[in-house]
Amino acid sequence: MDSNKRTAIVTGAARGIGREIAISFYKKGYNVVMNYAGNDKAAEETIRLCKESGDGNIISVKGDVSKEDTARALVDAAMNEFGAIDVVVNNAGITKDTLMAMMKTDDFDRVIDVNLKGAFLLTQKTLKPMMKKRYGRIINISSVVGVHGNAGQVNYAASKAGLIGMTKSIAKELAGRNITVNAVAPGMIATDMTDSLSDKTKDQIKSTIPAGRMGTPDDIANAVLFLADEKSGYITGQVLMVDGGMGM
Ligand code: NAP
Repeated sequence: MDSNKRTAIVTGAARGIGREIAISFYKKGYNVVMNYAGNDKAAEETIRLCKESGDGNIISVKGDVSKEDTARALVDAAMNEFGAIDVVVNNAGITKDTLMAMMKTDDFDRVIDVNLKGAFLLTQKTLKPMMKKRYGRIINISSVVGVHGNAGQVNYAASKAGLIGMTKSIAKELAGRNITVNAVAPGMIATDMTDSLSDKTKDQIKSTIPAGRMGTPDDIANAVLFLADEKSGYITGQVLMVDGGMGM
């Protein structure tokens, strides 16, 4: 147990943005509790990359964030191993895209369950230790799509807009207890999630980004680290767009 360090839980940290967030915390010397859904190989790779990059601690908890048991297991792991929870990053997310007219109810429900209910379940379970400590940083990974909407992503946009409403509401509830709650809204970031898009679609999207390039997981991790910092304690209920100007 290393209880002198800050402890961060990061969901969906086996790949993409979550992996980079976990590595960034680890590099800064945090205790990291990483979660992922099922890709053991990718999770092992995240742990390997962490260990070659700094002097933090890392443990992993496999499980579906939409299940209450996973939230409980993450909180128990953090408390048993490190004795505290200082930062929670609700990053795990999925897409099941299609036009509204064709969208299956199951696909609507699943995206809401993982992207929105998952953040609710974990955040709720971390409040007790955070309130006791009178310290906390909760960061929800939303999306530019949650702010502006997107054709073919009704379920995803609803989940990401829901995260923004949830962020602001919890921020109001907890501001007096030294717990901040913010959202980061990435634009188009190069990960497995966007890799399946055709080159034509990528080029079309890129033409709408004033910065002229897709973002990297590192761009998002830097914003998350900033909001997680002790010195960011007067920033709460905000949505930080990290999108190269896409959503202006
Ligand atoms: P990604 O590359 O597809 O990685 C997703 C991660 O989430 C994986 O580690 C996956 O675990 C995990 N995950 C998926 N479903 C889960 C579940 N039910 N329970 C626990 N973990 C689960 O995605 P990404 O691009 O890094 O996206 C990360 C977050 O940023 C998401 O919330 C996404 O909506 C948001 N975002 C991404 C972009 C973008 O352009 N990429 C833009 C805006 C917002 P396994 O590895 O085990 O499958």
